[in-house]
Order: sequence, then C-alpha cells, then structure tokens
Amino acid sequence: MNVTETKALLLYTAEKMVDSEPMLTELDLKIGDGDHGLGMQRGFAAVRDLLKGDTYQPKDVGDLFLTAGTKMMSSMGGASGAIFGTLFRAGGKAISGQDTFNAAVLSQFLVAGSAGVFARGGAKPGDKTMMDALVAAEKQSLLVQNESLENALLSVTKAAEEGAENTRNQVAVFGRAKSLGERSLGYVDPGAVSMSLILKYMAEFVTH
Ligand code: ADP
Ligand code: MG
Repeated sequence: MNVTETKALLLYTAEKMVDSEPMLTELDLKIGDGDHGLGMQRGFAAVRDLLKGDTYQPKDVGDLFLTAGTKMMSSMGGASGAIFGTLFRAGGKAISGQDTFNAAVLSQFLVAGSAGVFARGGAKPGDKTMMDALVAAEKQSLLVQNESLENALLSVTKAAEEGAENTRNQVAVFGRAKSLGERSLGYVDPGAVSMSLILKYMAEFVTH
C-alpha cells in the first residue's frame, strides 16, 4: 500500500478510535481513573484533523506515523499520551524513508515501537499494560512478515486481542491500576484493549 493509501488507513483508524471512547472509558473506570477513553479520543481526534484534507502531505510512511505520534503526544496527556505517542514516534522513525506499508514494514514498526515504549515506561508483558497486546503483536508480526498486509494485520490483531484478554488474569504493577493490587484481577487493561483496537481497525480498513 502506498503513502496515500496508508494515510487513508490511519485516518480510518483514528476515526474508529475516536468512536471507541465510551467503551474505553468504561474499562478504565473499572481499574483506573476513567480518563483513558477521553485521552485516546483527544489524541486520535488530533490525528484525524491532521490527516483529513490535503494540508499534510507525508513524505513517506515513516513520516506519517512519526507525525501522528507527535500529535498524540502533544494532545492526549496522561500516561497513555506518552505511551501511545512513543509507540507511533519510535515505530515511525524505524520505517523512515519507506514508501510502501506492507507486512515487513508493519513488523519493523511494531518491533521498534515496542522497544521505544519499553525504554520509556519499563513495562514488560505480564505487567497488565498495553505492552501485553503490543509484544504479542510484535512477535506474531515477525512470523508473518512475508505474507500479504491483509493476512499479517488479521493475524497480528488476533495475537494482540489474546494479549489484551490475558491481562484479565494479571495484577497491575504500573499506572493508576497499580493501587488496586489484587482487585485489578478480573478486568482487562484498557490500554491493552486500545492497542488491539488500533490494529483491528487497520485490519478492517485493509480487508473492506
Ligand atoms: P493514566 O494512567 O495517566 O490515567 P490512561 O488512563 O490514559 O493514563 O492510560 C492508562 C493505560 O496506560 C493503562 O491501561 C496501560 O495500558 C498504559 N500504561 C500505563 N503505564 C504504562 C507503562 N509503563 N508502559 C506501557 N503502558 C502503560
Ligand atoms: Mg487513566
């Protein structure tokens, strides 16, 4: 997929993330302070506004994700502004100069994005954060990087959804959910759900 098509993919994803606010708010009210949905909504509304129309012409696929990440970081606030902003910025830098978004580039984006988030926040899989979905997606992406973008996004999404679902059985050690301790058991981590939704909407765009 070329840069223009990838811009449309990210615009679709941003619009869908904006619409996911009520669901994400509900999840964060269970184990956090309830602001995750509004934070994601604000961040992706800024990305949507950046991408709609012709004002912003990305130089390449890397520039597109990097610039979106910068927008998220400056508009979202909270832990997730830094976390999801870092994912897009670090992932975007790693694919700088690419004029095609394909399964291999997706994998490079996830691998570098995950390393960036880890460097920033120090969370590992099992800590009940978005890293549980992201690292599952990253690992799966390496196995499917020679497949079509459609197949890769579908299988990476499935891995991320499983990673997010696994957070239900984990005790939070980061963020506001940490103060709940054992009481965070039984609830999925909202950031992990956001991570799997981002990939799900990318897959949806490519397969429709
Ligand atoms: P806040 O914790 O400031 O209220 P949000 O509610 O917007 O921020 O985001 C909470 C989400 O951020 C959590 O669900 C978790 O997935 C993610 N998160 C928190 N700390 C980290 C971290 N160190 N690394 C990765 N993700 C994190
Ligand atoms: Mg919160």
